[in-house]
Amino acid sequence: MDHFLYRDGVLHAEDVAISDIATEVGAPFYVYSSATLTRHFRLFDDALDWTDHLVCYAMKANSNQAVLKLLGDLGAGMDVVSGGEYMRAKAAGIPGERIVFSGVGKTRAEMRLALEGGIRQFNVESEPEMHALSEVASSMGAVAPITIRVNPDVDAKTHEKIATGKSENKFGIPISRAKEVYAEAAALPGLEVIGIDVHIGSQLTQLEPFGQAFDKVAELTGVLRAEGHDIRRLDLGGGLGIPYERSNDAPPLPQEFGQLVREKVGHLGCEIEIEPGRLIAGNAGLLVSEVIYIKQGEDRQFMIIDAAMNDLIRPAMYGAYHEIIPVVEPEAGAEQVKYDIVGPVCESGDTFAKQRVMPPVEAGALVAFRSAGAYGAVMASEYNSRPLIPEVLVHEDQFAVIRARPTFDEMINRDTIPSWL
Ligand SMILES: *Cc1c(COP(=O)(O)O)cnc(C)c1O
Repeated sequence: MDHFLYRDGVLHAEDVAISDIATEVGAPFYVYSSATLTRHFRLFDDALDWTDHLVCYAMKANSNQAVLKLLGDLGAGMDVVSGGEYMRAKAAGIPGERIVFSGVGKTRAEMRLALEGGIRQFNVESEPEMHALSEVASSMGAVAPITIRVNPDVDAKTHEKIATGKSENKFGIPISRAKEVYAEAAALPGLEVIGIDVHIGSQLTQLEPFGQAFDKVAELTGVLRAEGHDIRRLDLGGGLGIPYERSNDAPPLPQEFGQLVREKVGHLGCEIEIEPGRLIAGNAGLLVSEVIYIKQGEDRQFMIIDAAMNDLIRPAMYGAYHEIIPVVEPEAGAEQVKYDIVGPVCESGDTFAKQRVMPPVEAGALVAFRSAGAYGAVMASEYNSRPLIPEVLVHEDQFAVIRARPTFDEMINRDTIPSWL
């Protein structure tokens, strides 16, 4: 569910007309709904209300300060994957005890940063990382709370670029070796083993792979406890998918996910953490763009819009589908035409949709990409020297620019010309 609906013939974000935002900030831009972000966070929080838990928002999905502040105020923790994300979370007021640090390649500098600023736990992904963290923490006279991310070797049945729980993926340690790696961890100075971490991928549309992974985690909990480890926290990752295409079957709901967690690991008495990103932010955002030209090709019509692959890379990178709708509501029973919807970037990969059936639009019209709140703005670049597009947050009948579009000078002046040129 989201808060983007037609009202009086115009698409609204909550109580604000998209066309009003466009007039003020200029297309293209991202717009997020506070109500949707809030609702999605609460769905997860409620789904785990049967136990001690923390929902750690995977902020790589959308790390704007305003989004983090909103979620942090609701009680969210943060799952961070870099020193930069850690600093962003802190800047948004998230206390260290609500930040978990994930990622396969944490550097010593990043470990130091988090130990100095406070951290809930590190999710350790390899033995070399475990040794590095032990050294860093010991040298600081600190103790780093850790879980170890296990790779359960299950097929998440999602796009290959975002599957992370098969043995061929770079993530975690093989679950078959967990016993010896935990023994090693327990013997190292500067580390305190507190739990187990697993995250099998993103955009999962079925519960079954989660169930397989959680079964393995439950079994491992027993094994490790029998070895004397105090396993008291399970971080079960994120990955629940969203319905990008309305005609497809809807993915499971957070409530069903929470029930599955309860069924699989509820009896263990562990504190539960989850790390949803996409499901919190995805349907909370639109990318709004203006049609520059309608160009007649030999056998097709191209809709050339002012957003491009540098603004939203998911279609080019994953072949992802986004629903694209006119901002002015089409009349009931309006004719349908086909467009190849493309951006201005000089690559054929800059194609958002091919032969997309939709009502006809003219140059100057606004179109909106649904489900663009996660892995949208955060993956943007300035390729083709297109300044990063603004982000806007709506709350009821108010809206605010939460990241402004840089001017051309601001973009250019980040470069410096050496004195010898
Ligand atoms: C990306 C990621 C997540 C979030 O995945 P979503 O599909 O956005 O929910 C959670 N945990 C880890 C470790 C991740 O890498």
